[in-house]
Order: sequence, then structure tokens, then C-alpha cells
Amino acid sequence: MKKNYLLTPGPTPLPPEICEAMARPIIHHRTPQFQEILKEVSVGLKYVYQTTNDVFIISSSGTGAMEAAVTNLFSSGETVLVVQGGKFGERWTEIAKAYGINTEIINVEWGKAVNPEEIAKRLKADPGIKAVFTTLCETSTGVDNDIEKIAKVVRETSAVLVVDAISGLGAVDLKTDAWGVDVVVSGSQKGLMLPPGLGFISVSSRAWKLVEASKSPRYYLDLRKAKKAIDKNDTPFTSSITLIIALNESLKIIRSDGLENIFARHKKMADAVRASAKALGLELFAPTAASNAVTAVKVPAGIDGEKLVKTMRDTYGVTIAGGQDELKGKVFRIAHMGFIGEFDIITGLSCLEKVLAQMGYKFTLGVGIKAAEEVFLK
Ligand SMILES: *Cc1c(COP(=O)(O)O)cnc(C)c1O
Repeated sequence: MKKNYLLTPGPTPLPPEICEAMARPIIHHRTPQFQEILKEVSVGLKYVYQTTNDVFIISSSGTGAMEAAVTNLFSSGETVLVVQGGKFGERWTEIAKAYGINTEIINVEWGKAVNPEEIAKRLKADPGIKAVFTTLCETSTGVDNDIEKIAKVVRETSAVLVVDAISGLGAVDLKTDAWGVDVVVSGSQKGLMLPPGLGFISVSSRAWKLVEASKSPRYYLDLRKAKKAIDKNDTPFTSSITLIIALNESLKIIRSDGLENIFARHKKMADAVRASAKALGLELFAPTAASNAVTAVKVPAGIDGEKLVKTMRDTYGVTIAGGQDELKGKVFRIAHMGFIGEFDIITGLSCLEKVLAQMGYKFTLGVGIKAAEEVFLK
């Protein structure tokens, strides 16, 4: 028998209440019963998003909501500024290019957060820039960008701010309205503790003017259709009924825990993983802007990073993530988001120690777990 543990930055483990909700018989979506659920979900999403803006639900993974942000707000020939400090920053550029939108790029060294002053400088140099695209948690590098500061500099211009919070939402604080973030995109399989399949997008009234002006082609992802539907507690096409029912359960859990407590819990798990890495003599990939949602750790010299991740998963059932693209084999990533608790972290670290020891890495067995336990005891 092998018991499996999931410690990846999406998908994340599912709480039993959510599994149970998805096992119920299907209901029809054009019914008062489902409309009641959509109404509750809408309130819950606004709570998690910390906004009074509409939060639209899209039947797609997170990238579909990213695409919806691009096609609904901007037209071919316009120019946007993209912060590129990892794989998901690059995705913004790829989507924009697919729609003929010009991209100016701020290349940020992988493992670092963007300097908001750099954004201010670029916006000043080119007042024609219509938007800034960035990422809350850059999942590929384990970096959190300072969205509050970024929003502050963007608000001083006519550009709108679009944030990919797919892995950050529900793990790291993001005050959509208080900070003035125009568009926030998210997905179901990370901090929201659901299977993949739902995308979310909030749109400020400032950004809505762009939705009405955009000449980009769109049909399924047309937010004007979604707006007409949401005002009647409906969705424009067949709702992802089962996932939305599950979402309602997830939002109930989040509301009863409270966002502040959830953020504190994520910080504690992140602190524990970071302390553990340090005690093991391992280096963090992003020491200056480490995310509270996922930790990227450098693979030590002489250790095969891909084999480490593979052995933990295939031999012991503990799934963490390796590095993507240029970080392949160079880092491993331990997620601490959503329905992951302190004893999952201890299990993950214990397996990490075991496999590192088997691979010949020199350290005192147990020091990593001890360091994590000390954080949890505080
Ligand atoms: C997971 C993730 C995505 C991609 O979402 P999909 O659901 O795979 O489409 C995009 N951005 C970030 C920051 C992510 O963590």
C-alpha cells in the first residue's frame, strides 16, 4: 500500500466536504435551486476577492480567465506592459501576442520581485500603454510581487492593472478594492481547494469601459454576455454545475475560517518550510520575495533534482513540484496553499530528508523537521 500526499502548487488537496458535495446527484442549472447557489457563490467570491466588483465564473482552467482578461479589455494594435519574472508572466505576453496586442516587457530576474519604480518609469516613458499585466504569486519561482505598491504607481496613470492571482488568491493578501486593482484573475485548483476547471475574473468599473470598447474577437469568453447573465444569477452557457456547488462549499470554509486567519496559516507554513530548508543547508530560490503560497528551493550541488522529485513521488507517494523551463532540475517547489496543514508539511519535509539522505546529501537527519516543528510551536 502507498498513501499519497499532494504538495503541489495546483492541483491542491480537496477537503472531504468538497469531495462529498461533488458526489451528489446533478441538478439543473436553470432552476431557482441553482440560482440560490450562484447567489451565495457570488457573495463568497466577493469576500475572497475583497471587492464589490462582479467576479465572473468561467468554465476553464485559470488560463482561460487570463485569456478573457486580454480579449475583453484590449484590441489589436494597442500596447500593454508585461512583468515577466517567470513562466506565468511569460504567459501574459503569449496571450497578448496571440491577439495582436503589442507587448512591452519588464524582464525581471527569475527569483526576484518586480521593482514598482521600474513600472512607474516605463509608464511615464510611454503614456500610450493601456495596461500593466503582472502576477501576484509567480508560481514558477515562488515569488510574491508587491501588488499594493504596483497598484499605487499604476493608479497615477490612465493604465489599468491586471493581476494573475491564480495561485495567490486565498493564500496571500490581495485587497482588490482597497489597493485599486482593476482586474484579478484566478482559478479553482490552488488556494480555493477545488479540482481544476473554473476560472474567475473580477473587473472594476474603470476596466469595464475597456470591455465595452475592445474590438478583439470573442464569443465564449465574452464578458458582456457574462454580465447580462450574472445580473440574473445565471451564467451565459451551461454552468459547471458540480464545480460551482463545490465552490460554494469551499467559500463557506473560507468564510468561516476568515481571510486573516487563512493568510496567517499560510505564512506559518511558509516560514516552517523556509526554516527547514535553511536548517538542511539548502538555499531558497527567492530569498528576498519568498511567497507564502509556495516555496522554491535550490537543488544542492551533486543531487539530481528531477530524480529527487520523482523518487519522492513514485517510491513514497509524496508529490512536490520540480522546476519548470529554465529551472528544470535546478529547484524543487513545495506548495503550502489551500487544504494543506502543518502535518502535511511535516510529512513532506520528512520524505524530503529521507530521499536527500538516500541520495548522499550530507546533513543531520531530522534537523529540517525540527526547524519546522519549532516554527509551528510558536
Ligand atoms: C497555475 C497557474 C496558472 C495556470 O493556470 P491553469 O489553471 O493551469 O490554466 C497561471 N498563473 C499562475 C500564477 C498559476 O499558478
